[in-house]
Amino acid sequence: MTNSVSLLPGGNAASSASTASNSAFEPLTLGVMGGGQLGRMFVHAAQSMGYFTAVLDPDANSPAGRVSHRHIQTDYTDPKGLQQLAECSAAITTEFENVPAPALRELAKLRPVAPGADAVAIAQDRAAEKAHFVKCGVPCAPYALIETATQLEEALSTNLLPGILKTSRMGYDGKGQVRIKDADALRAAWQDLKQVPCVLEKMLPLALECSVIVARGCDGQMVNFPVQRNLHREGILAVTEVYEGHLPQALQQQAVAAARSIAEGVNYVGVLCVEFFVLQDGSMVVNEMAPRPHNSGHYTLDACDQSQFDLQVRTLAGLPLTQPRQHSAAIMLNLLGDVWFDTNNTLRLPDWAAVLALPGTHLHLYGKTEARKARKMGHLNVTGASVEQVRAVALKAAAILGIEAF
Ligand code: ATP
Ligand code: MG
Repeated sequence: MTNSVSLLPGGNAASSASTASNSAFEPLTLGVMGGGQLGRMFVHAAQSMGYFTAVLDPDANSPAGRVSHRHIQTDYTDPKGLQQLAECSAAITTEFENVPAPALRELAKLRPVAPGADAVAIAQDRAAEKAHFVKCGVPCAPYALIETATQLEEALSTNLLPGILKTSRMGYDGKGQVRIKDADALRAAWQDLKQVPCVLEKMLPLALECSVIVARGCDGQMVNFPVQRNLHREGILAVTEVYEGHLPQALQQQAVAAARSIAEGVNYVGVLCVEFFVLQDGSMVVNEMAPRPHNSGHYTLDACDQSQFDLQVRTLAGLPLTQPRQHSAAIMLNLLGDVWFDTNNTLRLPDWAAVLALPGTHLHLYGKTEARKARKMGHLNVTGASVEQVRAVALKAAAILGIEAF
């Protein structure tokens, strides 16, 4: 992103390029590709700093579109929609990694775009992503590319089983992944996945999972949040914990250093999340990266002096970055649609009053009107002065909501 002038909150008299549809000192508009919950929280952060916002998303009821000043309701590749977004926005970001990279390239001809299309394109393709990790000297799980039947047969002799077959593109929340025990299962699974390009990854003995969020400005300055410890259930993030002693110091340092070199290696601008596996022998490998704020960083909304979305705004607008500080111990519970169903599988409204009666609970709902199992509907942050207090409250909240203890 070439963003030589800061896009200051509350207007920017100095920059004519960035004031296309805003006169001096009128709020500038920040644009976002995608209208999901991450876009919604970006919009909230941008608006609280005085920016106007524009969201491009085809869905009339998208969580971000509903709270944005402008909602351009077209497909992500629609030239007219992209033109409109560029015309009204001083700079544009993205909120989900499957926004087509060519659309970001088009936008970048007209406006600063962060993160850039090249970084997003790498994160969109597991094969390219793994190659990038290797280039940056960060180890990942042993894997083989499976794009042809010959490659599949060759992969069988590489000691990758038991493994996980993952589609190279368009996977999220464990979708497009099949756990594989033997050769026949691998052949069948690749058929079922319509023989699209995949990677076969060795199934690793995990001790724990963690992730770290870094923010990098267009001048190369970088800051990071504390490393968060994550619990996944059925391929979906369930719980994130961040407090004193939740992870060994050495692991945290290793994760931060790896995430920083992964961001630097692609000249990244924006907020980047890197997910890691810690193996039972104590070693760490990188799993994947997300070129945007991440579900595991939602605790920053209530437990840190700046949230991951605040830093997305700052990196996009070319504003200064300062190292964020966590002021409270935190546990985040993901609120999947499952919470809206009782043990008889009947739809119900979760008992928010009981949850909010607990100290240090912060409820975030994304404004989705239809609860479906495994659908991310919101999250609950629990914050407090001590680990013990936060754990006790989070476990009580989980019990009220029917979320399995952790
Ligand atoms: P996301 O929603 O984070 O983008 P995704 O669909 O891209 O998820 P992954 O992060 O690749 O999926 O995997 C989801 C989860 O499956 C991981 O968090 C981990 O719990 C498990 N998993 C994935 N790969 C492996 C592996 N090689 N060995 C052991 N467990 C794995
Ligand atoms: Mg993942």
